[in-house]
Amino acid sequence: MEITKSSYVVTIDGPAGAGKSSVAKRVAQELGIKYLDTGAIYRAIALILAKSEIKPDAEEFLREALSEIKIELKDKSVLVNDFDVSSEIRTPEVDELASIYSAVPAVREALLGLQKEQENYGSLVAEGRDVGSVVFPEAKVKFFLTASPEARAKRRYLERIAKGKEADYDEILNSIKQRDINDSTRELAPLSVPDGAIYLDTSDMTETQAVNFIVDRVNEALSK
Ligand code: C5P
Repeated sequence: MEITKSSYVVTIDGPAGAGKSSVAKRVAQELGIKYLDTGAIYRAIALILAKSEIKPDAEEFLREALSEIKIELKDKSVLVNDFDVSSEIRTPEVDELASIYSAVPAVREALLGLQKEQENYGSLVAEGRDVGSVVFPEAKVKFFLTASPEARAKRRYLERIAKGKEADYDEILNSIKQRDINDSTRELAPLSVPDGAIYLDTSDMTETQAVNFIVDRVNEALSK
């Protein structure tokens, strides 16, 4: 008789540039389940709010705008009001914007439902800053992936160079440190290790080692 696993959620939280995205994507692929990039949702909303010149502290305008913005997650793309913003959200400017707007309570509230809803479409690997603590506190297995700021900056730098983009290591390092401060000191949903999460420092690990470690832990949890 074939044993079918019921649907489950794996969460991967951690700071900027810890390699979460590439690791989470590969983990999802190996497990044959969906990948949920919650950062992309925050980036998309920050981009549209900034373009609409709605300041993070303009609460009333912000709430109104949030109620009118339609965000959709397609297989590999993010659509805002039917426009594909998948590549526009991957710039250093949007790094900063997402970090600023994501600290606003109205923004986090507005995006919570959209994230939670993804669980209804089957098993998934969710990646973000508070997916193990706030969005999916009941997740089957939770991870906190991190690396030293220098290791993270080096990876970002190499990633940008490989894509043929301009890159300045010191600028990237400063931006990472600044985002760490923003993300961990904000009042709402600060970056923290979720209860029960497995802590993984990948500074001296290859991506494949991190992927294998996570997949092994998930399979162990599923077989219990
Ligand atoms: O993961 P990524 O770098 O794409 O996220 C962009 C920004 O969005 C983060 O720096 C963080 O401020 C915010 N974010 C968040 N909560 C999440 C995912 C991202 O606050 N679950």
